[in-house]
Amino acid sequence: MSRVLIVGAGIGGDALALMLDRAGWDVTVVEIAPELRAGGQTVDLRGDSREVLNRLGLLDECLLHLVDQRGLAWIDESGERRAAMPVEAFGGQGFVSSEELLRTDLARIIHAASGPRTEHRFDDTVAQLTENAHGVHVTFRRHESETFDLVVGADGTHSRVRSLAFGPESDFRHPLGLAHAWFTLRETATTPSVEGWSLMCNAVGARVIGARPGHPGEQEVGLTFPADTLPSRKDAEARFALLERVFADTGWRTREFLDASRSAADFALDTYDQIHVDRWHRGRVVLLGDSAWCASPLSGLGTALALQGAESLAAALDGAVPDDLEQALDAYEREMRPRTTAAQKMYPGRVRSYAPRTRRGIATMRFVMRVLQTRPIAALITRAVADYGRAPAAIESDAALLQTTR
Ligand SMILES: Cc1cc2nc3c(=O)[nH]c(=O)nc-3n(C[C@H](O)[C@H](O)[C@H](O)COP(=O)(O)OP(=O)(O)OC[C@H]3O[C@@H](n4cnc5c(N)ncnc54)[C@H](O)[C@@H]3O)c2cc1C
Repeated sequence: MSRVLIVGAGIGGDALALMLDRAGWDVTVVEIAPELRAGGQTVDLRGDSREVLNRLGLLDECLLHLVDQRGLAWIDESGERRAAMPVEAFGGQGFVSSEELLRTDLARIIHAASGPRTEHRFDDTVAQLTENAHGVHVTFRRHESETFDLVVGADGTHSRVRSLAFGPESDFRHPLGLAHAWFTLRETATTPSVEGWSLMCNAVGARVIGARPGHPGEQEVGLTFPADTLPSRKDAEARFALLERVFADTGWRTREFLDASRSAADFALDTYDQIHVDRWHRGRVVLLGDSAWCASPLSGLGTALALQGAESLAAALDGAVPDDLEQALDAYEREMRPRTTAAQKMYPGRVRSYAPRTRRGIATMRFVMRVLQTRPIAALITRAVADYGRAPAAIESDAALLQTTR
């Protein structure tokens, strides 16, 4: 076993490429985008991601790219602040932390560390996978077909590898009832500053408009709304028209964001989905990251799980030969399954607490955020967090309030 094809140069795919390259594999990574995909909001370095990045030797580089953040503030449609949680809340374990970097930067750092045995092929994807006695014969859209010992589908929630080897997306997709558009807004002389705060504006009808700090001179914008399905990716106009319709009557900076969305290079729109696959490998094809277990952005754990999954898979494959491949992939699944199952569990009302439907719901959510930070309750939470050693899952998951998936 020495030749692996990884489909998807995202966080999980490139992290696995780096680990397998170091273990002596010949690695080919095929990515459908013409270059490394930029975009996305922030990745929290307080939890498991930090440990994996440290073991990879990339943590110091990541820490050089932290976003300058002051906290999370809930504002109303006139821009008035109604509640806030600074990064210092709960002993530094609040929803937004001072240890976050943009997903774009994390992807770039992992990619830049690629080893000498790794070849990246951009602007291409797999067209067909056929397993035979020698491996998996792969037909590409653009490159010549080839045979690999192993194929890893690290191609995200809408995985093509999963469709080809496991079945149609509808068999695995569990929509959560929300959709999200996100993009980078370049500031001009007239752009209101977010002053280091992640600003979140809830509007009736489970709509959320957000802007948070990005690279200097940029803001990361998000628009969340109820939807299980969206117009086709090929019909950009229908997608922008949908946003115009849904956000026609919301205030604050909505108009500015809708106008800016059309010219944003990294504009993306997707539903919030979970992916449930009973078994992550079939023969010599295995899934990793969102393609296998997407827990949705509401979990706040997508990147941590992709990094842990890459590490677990690389360890399981260490020294594997074709005869014990099945055992190696079972070991990977045994290690990761409990973590992904836990991440996919959402407490009742999770979606509604992020995007309340009514005025009363919005007011209650802001009230709860203020109460949580009153002295006795904040002290209790801070102590609980300190005893636990890190942010409890509920807090970690709420750190994802402004983050979303592809
Ligand atoms: C541009 C972008 C922005 C994101 N923003 C956020 C965010 O703000 N907050 C958040 O919580 N999560 C975000 N995510 C998702 C987050 O990166 C993942 O949940 C997590 O890192 C798991 O990583 P993954 O490797 O499974 O998938 P991803 O990091 O999503 O990577 C999947 C890769 O596969 C590629 N790909 C897709 N289809 C094919 C195909 N057919 N052939 C070849 N390659 C393919 C994609 O272009 C992408 O590069 C974003 C993902 C992307 C791609």
